Amino acid sequence: MKKLFVKTYGCQMNAYDSARIADLLAPLGYGAAVGPEDADMVVLNTCHIREKAAEKVYSELGTLRVLKEEKAGRGEAMLVAVAGCVAQAEGELMLRRAPVIDLLVGPQTYHRLPEMIARISRAGGKALEADFPALEKFDALPDAGARGLSAFLTVQEGCDKFCSFCVVPYTRGAEYSRPPEAVIAEAKALVAGGVREIVLLGQNVNAYRGEAGDGKSWSLARLCEALAQIDDLARIRYTTSHPRDMDDDLIAAHRDNDKLMPFLHLPVQSGSDAILAAMNRQHRAEDYLRTIGQVRAARPDIALSSDFIVGFPGESDADFEATMALVRQVKFAQTFSFKYSKRPGTPAAAAPKQISEGVKNERLQALQKLLLEQQDAFNDAAIGSTMDVLFEKPGRGRGQFVGRSPWLHPVHAEGKELIGKILPVKIIARTANSLKSVLE
Ligand code: SF4
Repeated sequence: MKKLFVKTYGCQMNAYDSARIADLLAPLGYGAAVGPEDADMVVLNTCHIREKAAEKVYSELGTLRVLKEEKAGRGEAMLVAVAGCVAQAEGELMLRRAPVIDLLVGPQTYHRLPEMIARISRAGGKALEADFPALEKFDALPDAGARGLSAFLTVQEGCDKFCSFCVVPYTRGAEYSRPPEAVIAEAKALVAGGVREIVLLGQNVNAYRGEAGDGKSWSLARLCEALAQIDDLARIRYTTSHPRDMDDDLIAAHRDNDKLMPFLHLPVQSGSDAILAAMNRQHRAEDYLRTIGQVRAARPDIALSSDFIVGFPGESDADFEATMALVRQVKFAQTFSFKYSKRPGTPAAAAPKQISEGVKNERLQALQKLLLEQQDAFNDAAIGSTMDVLFEKPGRGRGQFVGRSPWLHPVHAEGKELIGKILPVKIIARTANSLKSVLE
């Protein structure tokens, strides 16, 4: 058997794509390698979100070049492929700069890898495919292979929002939603393979508008309702959402759909209207707060998560204070916060009034202190309560297992053969990042 090693950078959508690449290459005889050293093919599934992303990939390619030469000295071959957003953005330039690459595919063309591998094994040379035929990709992918208990399922890709700091509209293309029938079929296959929880993915997942065979357009809420009919599927989640696309149906689904978990990741980025406008987020702070109020009215126990960028160009002390005020008002369970960093080619990268690193560091520290207090308070509030946990893997200690609550708390418990079960537990204590429990 040949061996495949896929290194994933970046977001959950890339993790989904990496799993699909493995599915795609399994019929060609590729099983999982432990690392590049024992692999016949290495795929770097890249991400363009972080600064200097391309440089990190080039540095990794330098390491792979040495490994490939060593292997060639032993008469062993190794294919090197680059996939993902950096491949999309760099294209031909990448093949010229890093001759170690045999295959280069964008996020919408990795389904062509088997045919490209066949092509270069017949004719030699290199193969590059980096256009945007999203429709074709999902049709061409095979059924999903084994995924454990919680699986990602991409339902929507691309983005038309053009936030001024973000490269996604340039690397992933325009918004595209998969037809509901295709999503439901993939979900059923995952559940038949043992999956109990599905996380629906999309760059703007709540902008999902899948066109069904009868020509009707389905919202994300309707899709979740249909997925909830799959008997052995216990939990549905979705990420990442845009505040502007949080429609009434989806808010109501948090009240009406028992399988939709009470957790919402809704990035706000800033609490200042001036900065939200400069970011081209297309909503104000009060719109966000109103949406949060509606979601909480529909599902009072919902846990909220968000993304924040501090030190966006032009952010004044008062703008930053508006972010702190919004955080104090909402009270988040879990968050991701970053200093603004330039992404080449985006409007904000060329904006005047860039903020100094010192100020960015101070603001990030202050924000993260507040967010951590809120996260601790959220976890403390769970102590003494009973909640259902989906146990996913063994813990570090003997007889210990780790799972997730409906609110995404990582929860530990001791027991026998808990993996795959959803069981009620009583929360007895909190550690730094998780909860300790006993089986009820
Ligand atoms: S909505 Fe999200 S993916 Fe789209 S441009 Fe804004 S940050 Fe990027």
